[in-house]
Amino acid sequence: MSDVPPPSPDVSPAAPAEGHDPRGLQAPVIISLRGLNKVYETGDTDLQVLFDINLEIREGEFVAIMGPSGSGKSTLMNLLGLMDSPSSGTYELAGVDVTHLSPDEHAIARGQLFGFIFQRYNLLSNESARENAGMPALYSNLSAASRHDRAEELLTQLGLGHRLDHRPSHMSGGEQQRVAIARALMNGGRIILADEPTGALDSKNGRDVMEFLHTLHAGGRTVILITHDPNVAAEARRIIRIHDGRIISDEPSPTDFPPMASAPVLEPIRLHWSRGSLLPLRDIAEAVKMGMRSLRANIFRTFLTMLGIIIGVGSVVAMLNLGVASRQEQEKWFKKMGTNLMRIGPSTNSRGAWGALNFSDAKLIADIPGVLYSVPMIYEQKLIRHGNQSTQTTVSAVGRKFQESEDRIMLRGTFFTQEDVENSAAVAVLGLKTAMTLFPDSDPLGQYILVGNTPFQVIGVMTVSGGQGKGQDREDDVICIPISTGIARLYGNKSLSQISVKIGRIEDVTPLQDQITEALKSAHGDMDFRVFNQAAILESYRQSARMWNILLGSIGAISLLVGGIGVMNIMLVNVVERTREIGVRMACGARSSDIQMQFLAEAVVVCLLGGVLGLGLGVGLSYIAPLMKLPVVITPLPMILAFACAFVTGVIFGFWPARKASKLNPVVALSAE
Ligand code: ADP
Ligand code: MG
Repeated sequence: MSDVPPPSPDVSPAAPAEGHDPRGLQAPVIISLRGLNKVYETGDTDLQVLFDINLEIREGEFVAIMGPSGSGKSTLMNLLGLMDSPSSGTYELAGVDVTHLSPDEHAIARGQLFGFIFQRYNLLSNESARENAGMPALYSNLSAASRHDRAEELLTQLGLGHRLDHRPSHMSGGEQQRVAIARALMNGGRIILADEPTGALDSKNGRDVMEFLHTLHAGGRTVILITHDPNVAAEARRIIRIHDGRIISDEPSPTDFPPMASAPVLEPIRLHWSRGSLLPLRDIAEAVKMGMRSLRANIFRTFLTMLGIIIGVGSVVAMLNLGVASRQEQEKWFKKMGTNLMRIGPSTNSRGAWGALNFSDAKLIADIPGVLYSVPMIYEQKLIRHGNQSTQTTVSAVGRKFQESEDRIMLRGTFFTQEDVENSAAVAVLGLKTAMTLFPDSDPLGQYILVGNTPFQVIGVMTVSGGQGKGQDREDDVICIPISTGIARLYGNKSLSQISVKIGRIEDVTPLQDQITEALKSAHGDMDFRVFNQAAILESYRQSARMWNILLGSIGAISLLVGGIGVMNIMLVNVVERTREIGVRMACGARSSDIQMQFLAEAVVVCLLGGVLGLGLGVGLSYIAPLMKLPVVITPLPMILAFACAFVTGVIFGFWPARKASKLNPVVALSAE
């Protein structure tokens, strides 16, 4: 815009003069049309509406443009007000040739110089009188507070001080037209363009509007009044008659006006092309506010549109919260379940022979760094008796560290000691299930049981830690005796049934498994053993959790997509429904970027609002989840993600409708039904 020459600064203020129009012929020419033509291209035939219009209007004049309906008055007014461009000819506004300025520059000049008053008022129905009157200042550099104050001041001057917060639908036609006049004056309104301003009013209210126009004229403003009514035209100081697109006469009014006081000296007109900051932060805040307002006007429709976003964001949040929680819960559970426990048992070697594990293997593993315990075990099913109770149970001859390694909890008594192992003591620790079978109604502690024919004294009762899962009964259906006793009394020189290996950290399970395998392989010279490792189970659970997350993520993404399309749809409907509003805003100086910003902000506001509600829904679901015995963790990441999703959805799906709105032609938009 900087390549546009600034308007000439030597447009001097009107010098007061004598006569019925004090500014007379000495005032500067503010509007100059030369050889202006306007042709509408409708289909294959061109319709010429204005023919070779030559016209000069001086600052401070009160001009009526009069002609029958269809003669081209409104077309001429739209050209004068920079709402439309002539097909040929030149238009100089305050000394600047504006014929070839860009649409944005037209919008800026419009905002700074013109005030439009329409036959049908064209107020925005969702906004109060104050907001309607203040609207043009949204597109100038006025602060919100000054806009507010000025709108109030103007409305009060127009006798609407008691109607500031009323909507247009709650006001009479005369009141609405006065709000429209206040709006025309908001940014200064040096040139008032009034198209049939009294056309829809009764004579009393029409009279009032004419009085206001006289007052504005007396205050130094240029008033251009368009009418088909000779009585109305007669109130102007100069009457230009137009017929079939041609000016047929241009003469002073026949009315004998009383002498007029000299007009105030106005600032010279100077167009400012720049609107200040490139990053219109205040504009965004304003656009968001406007968006909220128009959405409030249609709460139900907006809510329906938001549902997709709400569900999308809600499911993303709830699922991520549940996902994080169930993962954490799983890790805890796996630790309890002994995922860091590894079991090594004999297997067939490469020649098909069964391998043997022995104490030196257990010792070998115990010496590997990172291994907490390496416990040798020999077990077999045996018949156990006490009194007349008997049961078939696994009798495990185990090393001292069995209890720690396998996380057994002592319910009664103690586990056996190193001393018991050294002395091959005939002591036994019963699993809970075995204890209950053998001692249904007495305390097993200190009593004797028979394993085969060998008596053992019960010194403790134990159960598995965690106490959950299917394994519990099996793990509790056991008797543990010192390994030395087992060898001496029950099993002789049998090789080990199993070596139970406890790893310090879950992360080390896999590398240590490799090390143990290597060590045993080189000791045995063959793979005659197998390593059982529950980390594989953990991995497969993690895998399924990942699949679960992908599934839920897709649900969220699809909902957001559907929601976004809903928002786009509603915004397109919005653009169509509010075409006239867009035209009015453009007439009041809104550039296409302002309109685009407004509609984009609305889309983003809808989506963010949906995001907030969706977040509420998601967090709500996350709180309900524990009631359904699902673990939950509220984490900030899904929230941030949800908002980002909502925002991006708004920007993407709001862009096209907003662009469509901004590309509307002001005249076409303004004449929309
Ligand atoms: P007036 O305001 O004097 O009643 P207008 O300026 O509105 O007249 O219209 C003058 C002529 O131009 C009419 O014949 C009208 O049909 C035609 N016209 C106005 N706007 C358009 C347009 N956008 N496209 C085609 N023809 C138009
Ligand atoms: Mg008209």
